[in-house]
Amino acid sequence: MLSSLTPTDVAFVMAGLMQAVPAVLWLIGGWVLGDTQRAAVHWAAYAGASALSFVFLDAAMQARDPHHAEWLRAVGNISAVLGLMTLQRGIWLFIGRAPTHAGHLLALGAVLLASWIGLEPAGGAVRVGVNSLAQAVLALAMARDLHRYARDALRLRWPRVLPLPLWLAAAAFAGRGLRALLAPGAVGAEMTVDSGLNVASSFAYVVLSLSFHAMLMALVIIRLVTDLQRLSSHDGLTGLLNRRALEEALAAQLQRSRRSGEAFCVLMLDADHFKRINDRFGHAVGDMALKHLSALLRSHMREVDRLARFGGEEFIVLLPGLALADALPVAERLRQAIAAAPLAHGDAAMALSVSIGIAEWGGVREDASSLLVRADAALYQAKQRGRDRVASAGSAFDSEFVPI
Ligand code: GH3
Ligand code: MG
Ligand code: MG
Repeated sequence: MLSSLTPTDVAFVMAGLMQAVPAVLWLIGGWVLGDTQRAAVHWAAYAGASALSFVFLDAAMQARDPHHAEWLRAVGNISAVLGLMTLQRGIWLFIGRAPTHAGHLLALGAVLLASWIGLEPAGGAVRVGVNSLAQAVLALAMARDLHRYARDALRLRWPRVLPLPLWLAAAAFAGRGLRALLAPGAVGAEMTVDSGLNVASSFAYVVLSLSFHAMLMALVIIRLVTDLQRLSSHDGLTGLLNRRALEEALAAQLQRSRRSGEAFCVLMLDADHFKRINDRFGHAVGDMALKHLSALLRSHMREVDRLARFGGEEFIVLLPGLALADALPVAERLRQAIAAAPLAHGDAAMALSVSIGIAEWGGVREDASSLLVRADAALYQAKQRGRDRVASAGSAFDSEFVPI
């Protein structure tokens, strides 16, 4: 039986099999991937629909009745277009873009109409032309979405590289579509027989769809790595930098300032009487209050400032380039902003306040831990003096450092 297969049969079967394997892999992957599950199932369906489209296209090669063959080709083409739409929906699910239906309905309408025209063997080229152009537009739209996602969300250095297979596919589909519409006779004749065009198209298809799956896997892996990096440097509740990331930022600032002499200050903030909030309203409301405080603080930061949750209800702000005299009004503004924005809880408004200790870096001889100890001492002063206030630490050299 194998010996009766033509090169086109073999090429179509290979292209179909090539899509069947990733279909199974995405189903297994989706099961493991958790929050990416729905996208992975869509990508499995895309690969399955593509595999099916080659089954129909090859069945058309075997069909003796030309009308029957055109029906099979039409179903094969529609299956391929539906597959691409499913791929796009999977990408939308993955990148968190709300799905739209109008574009897909329009494309489907055009493809169905062209398929109907193509049921006449003479209209086969119209079907191929419209289908291919619809696929080119879909590929372009996906490439644009992925490019933006790679640039804005993943912040890749070369965001255009990720959707490269889609740009190439768009060019290939557009070329095929234009050729079918401009030279309908040639395409119509070559398509329905064992031909170089069919074999070459299948090979090109195999390469493109392999690179589609590689692109999708890269997408999943890159986001996984980005998420892990984020988790290791950010606090889960508030989204602020965590203690480890703050210590790194402080070390980098110390290095910079030791070289350039640039002044900087550290603020240590502690929510006042926070235990009472937990005791009165419960831990969940306490958590809400921490998020509320974090959002308020974040909204008052400059781009260069670093804000971290240092522990429990304690925060640290790193203010590069500011000496004590300039950092004091910043701290005072933060304190006032928090005092002026009580947290709404049911009908009640819950007043919040913070005490803030400031320490200015004392020069090349002072390290991070000494700076934090002084900020903590200043915070203690602010608490002692009645809370809801700012206190600054004395000079580093007054207490802990003996000048040479
Ligand atoms: P002070 O004005 O002296 O700072 O009083 P305080 O009550 O804020 O200080 P204390 O250190 O005694 O209590 C801090 C409280 O913060 C105790 C702890 O339950 C609460 N806390 C720490 N981390 C979290 C958190 O992640 N969520 C919630 N809800 N509460 C937290
Ligand atoms: Mg406190
Ligand atoms: Mg505390």
